[in-house]
This record gives sequence, C-alpha cells and structure tokens, in this order.
Amino acid sequence: MSKSLQAIRGMNDILPEQTPLWRYFEGTVARLLDNYGYKQIRMPIVEFTELFKRSIGEVTDIVEKEMYTFEDRNGDSLTLRPEGTAACVRAVLEHGITGGGQVQKLWYIGPMFRHERPQKGRYRQFHQIGLEVFNLDGPDIDAELIAMTWRLWGELGIRDAVKLELNSLGTSESRGRYREALVEYLSAHHDKLDEDSQRRLKTNPLRVLDTKNADTQAVLVDAPKMADYLDDESRAHFEGLKARLDAVGIPYVLNPKLVRGLDYYSKTVFEWVTDKLGAQGTVCAGGRYDGLVEQMGGKPTTGVGFAMGIERLVLMLETLEQIPEEISRQVDVYLCAFGEEAELAGLALAERVRDQLPNLRLQVNAGAGSFKSQFKKADKSGALYALILGDDEMAQQVVGFKPLRGQGEQQSIAWDALAAHLATCVVQG
Ligand code: ATP
Ligand code: MG
Repeated sequence: MSKSLQAIRGMNDILPEQTPLWRYFEGTVARLLDNYGYKQIRMPIVEFTELFKRSIGEVTDIVEKEMYTFEDRNGDSLTLRPEGTAACVRAVLEHGITGGGQVQKLWYIGPMFRHERPQKGRYRQFHQIGLEVFNLDGPDIDAELIAMTWRLWGELGIRDAVKLELNSLGTSESRGRYREALVEYLSAHHDKLDEDSQRRLKTNPLRVLDTKNADTQAVLVDAPKMADYLDDESRAHFEGLKARLDAVGIPYVLNPKLVRGLDYYSKTVFEWVTDKLGAQGTVCAGGRYDGLVEQMGGKPTTGVGFAMGIERLVLMLETLEQIPEEISRQVDVYLCAFGEEAELAGLALAERVRDQLPNLRLQVNAGAGSFKSQFKKADKSGALYALILGDDEMAQQVVGFKPLRGQGEQQSIAWDALAAHLATCVVQG
C-alpha cells in the first residue's frame, strides 16, 4: 500500500474483533457513572490553542512538545485536544452552569491527541474517560470519586493489579512556599542535576521531583518535603481524604514525589498504577484543581477530577485475561434458509421473532448457499442454535431447531411457537 493510504503513526484503528471489549469496558464505566450521579458532557475535539496554553501551562511537556496545533483557513491557531479538563472548564464557563456555586458532576469520553513516541500503551490518538466535579471543595468528594474507581477495578476483575498512589500539593500559597524552598535547595546542587532537571528548575521546578535520572534522584533524597510545607487547610483536607479511604477500606501508598504533568493541580493528586503494562503503568490519574476556573477567567470555583486511559485498561483486561464470556459470543441464533420461497418466509419469520424478542441476537443467513456452506457459517458465527428452513419445513410450517454446541437433538418448532421457545433457551442480556 502506498504510504499516503496508511493510518498516521500512533493513531490506531480499533478493529471489529476488539470493539466488543471496548464496549464492555465503556458500558461498565458509564453504568457506574450513572449510578454515582454523573452526567455526560460532550465537547468538541478542536479548541483554540490559547485554551490549552492557559490551562495546562506553557512550560508543561504537553504544551511544549506534544500538541497537534495548526492554523485553520481563517488563520486561527487551533489544537486537537490533548486532554479533557480544559475544554470542560471552558464549556461550563461559557454556558454558566457552575455559576452561583452550582454543583456539577460531569463526565466525558473520547479521543485525545498528543505527539508522543508511540509504544505499547502510548499512542498519538488515545482515548480517555474523564470526570470533573465543580463546586464541591471537601475531601468527601475526592474520596467518593476514588471509591468509584476502586469499585470499577473490582467489577472489571483487576483490583489486585492496581495500586493507588496519593499526594497533596497543597494550596497555591503553600505550594509557592514549597517551590521556593525546593528551588533554593536544588540551586545549591545545580551541577549534580541532569540537563532536563536544570532546565525545569527554571521553568517548572516541581517536575524535577519525578525525574527518572539516578543522579538527580540522589540529590532529591535530602530535598525539602512537600508534606512539611502544607498549610492547615491542605493538611486537614488530606487527612480527611485519608480517613475516608480508610473507612471504605481502600489501600493507598503516599508518594511525596507525585506531582502530575499539568500545572493546574492543588491539594489532592492521585494515580492508579500497575506493573502489568511495562513502562506505561498509569491507568487513571487526577486530582484537585481549585484555582483553574478562576485562572481561566471564571469566578472562584473549585474542581476535582480524573481521566483514565481506555487503551491501557483494555490492555490490562487482555493481559489479565479478564474478558467476560458473554462478549466473546455475538450471535445467539443463526437462521439458514434453502431456496427462494424459504428465504422469503425466513425473513418474515425473523422479523416477527425480533418483534417479540427485541434483545435476541438473531442472524439471518445472507447470500444463499448450500446446506453445507450455510451450516459452516452458522457454526462460525458462534451461535448457540441454528434455525433451518428447507422444503420439508416449509411444507409443514415449522422450523428446524438445531443445537450447535451439543445440547440435544434437532427438533421441529411451529412458526407461531418459535419466539416462545427461543425465550426459554436463550439467555438474554
Ligand atoms: P503518562 O505519565 O503515562 O504520560 P500523563 O500524566 O501524561 O500520563 P494524563 O494527562 O494524566 O497522563 O492522562 C490520564 C491518563 O490517560 C493516563 O493515566 C493514561 O492512562 C492515559 N494516557 C495519557 N497519555 C496517553 C497516551 N499517549 N497514550 C495512551 N494513554 C495515555
Ligand atoms: Mg504524558
């Protein structure tokens, strides 16, 4: 195939054999979100570039080197969204739905775009489910949204493979004091830092904390600790969160180096990490961003949220073989008809059965074919039963009902009784 006809590197097709697992995952999350009282919001995929610069921060990795930015025909600078929070904040502000302290519990799903080096679990178009809560400032809501993810891992059967890492970045005041102390300490050890960290020391010093460089890590051992700089308000919030996680029985580890890659976080930050996916170990990440709405031109409005990476979680379900049986079978019943007259009758019969059993997954053979070829297709479809309409069945106004997975003999069912019979033997979701 010529190059121009291939997909863009890092942007994947999700093929029909993969979509059942995606839909199972998305459906499970959507049901939980409904049950916890979240409402879906849908934002455009493209926004003005300025939105991301202002919210995510000019000197973050995302804005510095990962955004898909282009000029449209009017000369406006637009960007494919690299994450969902910025657009969600823009949307609630634009529509005034968080004004006057109105609480909003929102969620979204969709593709995000970042120009990163593609590898397992890291792509240039990837998909997130995210949620954002506005105007609830207590640790109770932080705890509840973490509890919801904990429930999700339980339902998906991957709870044992993930670990919750937790930190508090404090209010912007306490963070400011900590930043000063950290800069002072790191500046005194400037020569021992790696090049990237030297640069970050000037632009985004907290990011030095999550360096992978061993020499810089060694310097950090004696660096000032964020926990010592938290003010009373941040400390109380963090204690409140931990008490609630303890009350529910959700285990966590404190990670004082957890800072997150986006500038807007304050107080709570957390990540759910796994060691089952190699280097791309974070499956869900988020935190509180009490200053963001104001920073983007709104009235003071607190916020907290997270986003999970669908590719990584689907990969986990595959790796841990937590694929529910019901999604591997897409067809319940396959109808084979032989000859023009039987095809007409079969089509009408199928529609009548569908009227009566709307959840039945009934596939009617298309493209005619011999006895042998239709049976082969019936078998390959994964169906539990084949329905057979040939000359004999037509003459008697019955349909042959043949178990395909070894549950008994073939029998004849009258057309009028077919739906009732299927209702007894096919479990319907
Ligand atoms: P990472 O440290 O893995 O780069 P991040 O801190 O950049 O993650 P966030 O911006 O917090 O990630 O996004 C939330 C989640 O979205 C991540 O925890 C991850 O599961 C997923 N995610 C982020 N970037 C990618 C990507 N390029 N490909 C696939 N999934 C991604
Ligand atoms: Mg990243």
